[in-house]
Amino acid sequence: MALSIVELYKRVLPKSNCKECGFLTCLAFAGMVVSEKYPLRACPHIDPNVLDWAEKELEEQYRQGKWLKKDMAFEALKIAKDKIATEDLQNIGERIGGTIKGDRLILPYFNSYLYIDRNGIKDEAGNELSRNEQTFVYIHMSMMNRAEPVKPTGKLKGFKEFPNTVSKAVSMRNHVEEPLKKAFSGNLVKLRDACLKCGGIDVQEHYESANLAFCFQVFPSVSVTLLFWEASDNFDADVKLLFDEMVIYHLDIESIMFLSEHFVNRLKAMY
Ligand code: SF4
Repeated sequence: MALSIVELYKRVLPKSNCKECGFLTCLAFAGMVVSEKYPLRACPHIDPNVLDWAEKELEEQYRQGKWLKKDMAFEALKIAKDKIATEDLQNIGERIGGTIKGDRLILPYFNSYLYIDRNGIKDEAGNELSRNEQTFVYIHMSMMNRAEPVKPTGKLKGFKEFPNTVSKAVSMRNHVEEPLKKAFSGNLVKLRDACLKCGGIDVQEHYESANLAFCFQVFPSVSVTLLFWEASDNFDADVKLLFDEMVIYHLDIESIMFLSEHFVNRLKAMY
């Protein structure tokens, strides 16, 4: 019998909410096991016979793809690729600010360039981009099918100020803000150095309350501004990313998340 989240919770888990698996409740753990293939053995309180049986059931339903959460990045990448597959690279370049050389579109990207052709996207060193990085680049290329390009207005907003970001706020905190704080708190000089190496422009004169403010031109029409506050006697360190209010015409919310996560990794790689 297949194990839904509720069935796993009711028939297999102890329902004691002891948190030893790392989740607050048995039900939350069940959700991760059923939809994200989190190992059932992470709960140490399941009868071994029940565990064997349940793992076999789960294995079969994973094989069938039953109840598994869809890989959103893969889906988004496929849709965006399909969308631009028939479009002239010249048109895409005109829309997003790249130039055509031979059969390639050359797109400014941070302080370097991306090289895009019908076979894929490579960086200046000729390396393939990671899948999440490809996803936000392709989404950017596939958006904004308007007669007139939407230009940035210069009015910046925090991530949570954009519509439909409530469900992503935790990801932004856990995968972007916290890692930045962890990597650079107490290391403002290193952060400044990393920002400069990534092509950031110092804009602190516009954000006097922050200890550091840098603006990065990700694509010709997409920028991200990093604000960083060091910890003090009364406050913990804090981080905020700001985007132009028009960014949602150039990237969807999922892609803004991917871009933000990539941005953190890029800074950390310079550290
Ligand atoms: S370790 Fe097991 S019993 Fe404890 S909360 Fe996790 S699933 Fe429930």
